[in-house]
Amino acid sequence: MEEITAEPSSALRAPGPLDLGTEAGARLLAEAVELIARHAEAVADGPVAPAEPDTDRIRDWLAGHDFAGPRPAGELLTEVTEALRRWGVHATHPRYLGLFVPTPTWWGVAGELVAAGVNPQLAAYGHAPAAVEIERHVLRFLAARLGLPPGADGSFTTGGAEANLTAVVLALTRRFTTYPDTGLAGLPGRPVLYASAESHLAWLKIAHMTGLGRSAVRLVPADAAGRLDLARLREMRDEDVAAGRVPFLLVGTAGTTGGGAVDPLPELARLAGAWGLHFHVDGAWAGAVALSDRLRPLLDGVEHADSVTVDAHKWLSAPMGAGIFLTRHPDALADSFRVSTAYMPPDSDAAPDPYLTSVQWSRRFAGLKVFLALAAAGRDAFARQMERDTDLGALLARRLAGDGWRRMNDTPLPVVCVADPAAEAMGPGPSGQWHAAVVAHVVRGGQAWISLVRLNGRSAIRLCITSHRTRAHDIETAVAALGEARSATPY
Ligand SMILES: *Cc1c(COP(=O)(O)O)cnc(C)c1O
Repeated sequence: MEEITAEPSSALRAPGPLDLGTEAGARLLAEAVELIARHAEAVADGPVAPAEPDTDRIRDWLAGHDFAGPRPAGELLTEVTEALRRWGVHATHPRYLGLFVPTPTWWGVAGELVAAGVNPQLAAYGHAPAAVEIERHVLRFLAARLGLPPGADGSFTTGGAEANLTAVVLALTRRFTTYPDTGLAGLPGRPVLYASAESHLAWLKIAHMTGLGRSAVRLVPADAAGRLDLARLREMRDEDVAAGRVPFLLVGTAGTTGGGAVDPLPELARLAGAWGLHFHVDGAWAGAVALSDRLRPLLDGVEHADSVTVDAHKWLSAPMGAGIFLTRHPDALADSFRVSTAYMPPDSDAAPDPYLTSVQWSRRFAGLKVFLALAAAGRDAFARQMERDTDLGALLARRLAGDGWRRMNDTPLPVVCVADPAAEAMGPGPSGQWHAAVVAHVVRGGQAWISLVRLNGRSAIRLCITSHRTRAHDIETAVAALGEARSATPY
């Protein structure tokens, strides 16, 4: 018989092909940090959006990367940051007055880097007790600010859509005892949920994914202020019950995407209680104002919620993705995501394993960037930032009113939607085209990024303060750009 040697080959003793080594790794990270810092400056000096989308050139550039052999990583980083700067809308620009994409704080970016490098596995408590406790600490802080009871718990998610998906699974599990085993098939009638027509339409995707079907989402018309209409809600619910359908979830949106409206949360909480529905508050954007004593009253009623969504990657200025799901029913949450396997480490007594209370299994340490920013800046800095953004929004609204724009939404939050009265007088079709042309003109000019929205069937131009870099002079520049676009666009 041949003798088998126990000695490993010299190749196996040497570093593996992906092991760059600590010194070279640290140099690469330093280069990345320098590029990120310079990117922030370059963005503020350039146009908010590229002049033309340039898909062919992006693909030509990428075609040169066939992964056939190694390339210097520093050069690649420079190339990639340059590509991102040339070919993308810059939400980190102080005049990005768009969707709820923030400029991330430096603390948040640093937290993201550490989370990536240390890479704790947040599936099982036993693998990452410090990381899980850091997240729980942040979740409990936010739950307390929202007025949820001390036992409230939850999870970090990829974003608001996953947090809202979690709410639907939890609501089905709470409402229907057979749902965990036999699913929708075993239910006494067709389950339906209510959200305002102005709510974030992730609800439709969620209904599709969960097997509820899109028509299970009853979109309740909004009133003139963009808030869910309670009278219509009562009618729709009565119709559903009379038809044998089974309502299980009522959603209140705190800060609608289009116009920043806050649904009447106290009344919704009362109705949900009377009807036996799970009450979820989608505060993906505006839920963050819980950190400000001045703005917290806007959320009154949220303390009655069975569950809440807040996106830290919106108004808390965390880098994406950092959504937060909170609930006052941690036991039902554990029931919603329970599973047992032989290969996962045993449960800890200290806290539930995150993979047993959330949609995800293996999970990145999304909470670190939020913890770090809160701990470094302090709650008060976040409160003052949101109050300042709100004041900038009020300034923007005054300036636009002074220029003769008609205000189309009604909210103290910094989303300002306006229309031109002369364009409106032409009727919905021509008005929509005119407002779209004005928005396109502003975006092409690169001075600001703004968008088009429809509120109650009417076209409007939407401007929202989302960057902590925005200052008063940026408001003036944006208002001037809008005025110029208006003059350049014939009716
Ligand atoms: C942004 C938003 C969502 C979706 O959140 P993502 O983080 O984009 O997944 C849901 N609801 C509201 C009110 C939002 O503003």
